[in-house]
Amino acid sequence: MRRRTRIVATLGPATDRPGVLEAILNAGLDVVRINFSHGTPADHLARIRRLREAAAGLARPVAILADLPGPKLRAVLSAPIVLVSGREVTFGPGHASGADIGVTEPEVLADVRPGQRILLDDGRLQLCAVRIGDGKVVAHVEVGGTLLPGKGINLPDTTLSIPSLTPRDRDALAIAAQAGVDWLALSFVRDAAAADELRSAARAHYLDAPILAKIERPEAVARADRIIDAFDGIMVARGDLGVEIPLEQVPHVQKALITQARRAAKPVITATDMLDSMRLNPRPTRAEASDVANAIYDGSDAVMLSGETAVGQYPVEAVACMDRIAREAEKHRADFPELSVPVARMDDHVSQETCDLARKLQAQAIIAPTRTGRLPRLIARHRPPVTIVAATPDPGTLRRLALVWGLSPVLLPDGLAPGTDRLDAAVRAAFHSGAVSTGDLAVVVAHHPAEGGECPTIRVVRIGPNGQPLAPA
Ligand code: ATP
Ligand code: MG
Ligand code: MG
Repeated sequence: MRRRTRIVATLGPATDRPGVLEAILNAGLDVVRINFSHGTPADHLARIRRLREAAAGLARPVAILADLPGPKLRAVLSAPIVLVSGREVTFGPGHASGADIGVTEPEVLADVRPGQRILLDDGRLQLCAVRIGDGKVVAHVEVGGTLLPGKGINLPDTTLSIPSLTPRDRDALAIAAQAGVDWLALSFVRDAAAADELRSAARAHYLDAPILAKIERPEAVARADRIIDAFDGIMVARGDLGVEIPLEQVPHVQKALITQARRAAKPVITATDMLDSMRLNPRPTRAEASDVANAIYDGSDAVMLSGETAVGQYPVEAVACMDRIAREAEKHRADFPELSVPVARMDDHVSQETCDLARKLQAQAIIAPTRTGRLPRLIARHRPPVTIVAATPDPGTLRRLALVWGLSPVLLPDGLAPGTDRLDAAVRAAFHSGAVSTGDLAVVVAHHPAEGGECPTIRVVRIGPNGQPLAPA
C-alpha cells in the first residue's frame, strides 16, 4: 500500500543544487512549500517552474503550497549583528532611522509597551522593551547572541493591531497566482476573519486555491475551532508557536489541534524542527525520529521539513528518512483511535457507513469519484486501514488532494461518454492507475445523478481481470 502520511518539504538554495529536486521527488515528496519570507520572486517562480517539470513524469500528483509571511516581524540587517547581554538596542524602520535592527513591519512597533518581551530567532535571544517613541523601540538585551538577517522577531505579550494581510503578502499573492499554486498558507493568523481577507485577496488575482491557517499565536490556539471552520486546513507551526506560548504546552496543543482538524475533515500539517539536526548530519537524533512518528500517531495528515531541505546539507536523506519513519509508524498503528465526529449532514453518515462497510467486508479499497474532493476527505478523517482512491476529472482537485492523509488520487477522463456510469469509470481508472488489482473487493461511493439532484450511492464490486467491476460474490 502507498504511504498514508503525506510529506511536505520546503524548497530553497539546497534544493536548487543539480539533481536534488528530482531526488527528493523520487524519495516520496508529496507537497513542496515555497516560503515567501525568504528569497526573491524570481527564485520562487524558477523553483515552481522546475518543480512542475520534474513532477510531470511522476505517477502521483505533487502539490505546491505557497506560505505567506503574514504580520510576522523579521530582522532587516545588512550583516549579522552581535547583541550583548545587559546592553540596549533600538528597533526601527531601518538604518536610516538610526535603529540597530530594522524590522519588516515597522508599524507593529507602535503596539509594543514597556516591559513586554521581544524574542529573536525562535526565542534564542531574549530582550525586554524599555522605551517607546518616535516609531522606535529601545530594548534591554537579557540573553544575547548573534542575530542573522531575516530571522524572526516574536512579541508574545503584544496585541498586534496590524491587518492579517500585509502589503508583502499581497505582493507574494500576485506571484503565487502567476504560478498557479495549489494551496496557500498564511502565517500568524489571529482570527477566523483572516480567511475571508485571504480568499478575496487571492480571488483578485484570479487564484482560487484552498487556504491553510498557520497556528502560531496564542489567540489562534484559543480560537482554533472557528479558524478551522473558516479555513480549509491548518499547520501546527511549532517554531513560532513554541515562542508565543510556553514551549511545554506545544505537545498537548499539537494533539488537540490535530484532533480538531481531523474531526472537521480538514488537512493538518505538523511542522518545524522535525528532523532539524539533519541540516548538518546525515542521520537524525532518536528524539526527532520519535517526534515524527508521534505526530503521525496523533493523526497528522502531513509532516513537514523546513530548513532541513531549504538550506540543509542532507535534503535528500531528510526526505528519505521521513519516508522510512512514516512507513514504519503506519505499519505498527494501522488502526487509529476511533474519532467521534459530529454527524450533521448526509455525507457524514455516508462516509462513516462506507468505512464501516469496508471494514466489515474486509475490502481492500474504497473508491470515491469526486469533483471537489469533499467525500474522500470525509472518508480519510476516519483513517480506515484500506486504500482510498479519490478519482476526479479535475487536475486541480487531484493536486490539492496530495496533502490529504491516505488518499490515492487518480485522474478520471473528463466528459464521460453518454451512458457511462461514473462509479464504473472510477473503478476502471483506479485499476489502470495501479491503486487496485484484480480480485480486490472495493466499496465504491459517489453522488449519482438522479431526478432533482444527486443520490449518495454505495456499491460493492470485485475487480475483474481487466479492471471491470464484477458482482462481488
Ligand atoms: P516560518 O516561520 O514561516 O517557518 P522560517 O524563517 O522559520 O519561517 P523556514 O522555511 O521554516 O523559515 O526555514 C528555516 C530557516 O531556513 C529560515 O529561518 C532560514 O534561515 C532558512 N531558509 C529557509 N528558506 C530559505 C530560502 N529560500 N533562502 C534562504 N534561507 C532560507
Ligand atoms: Mg512561523
Ligand atoms: Mg520555520
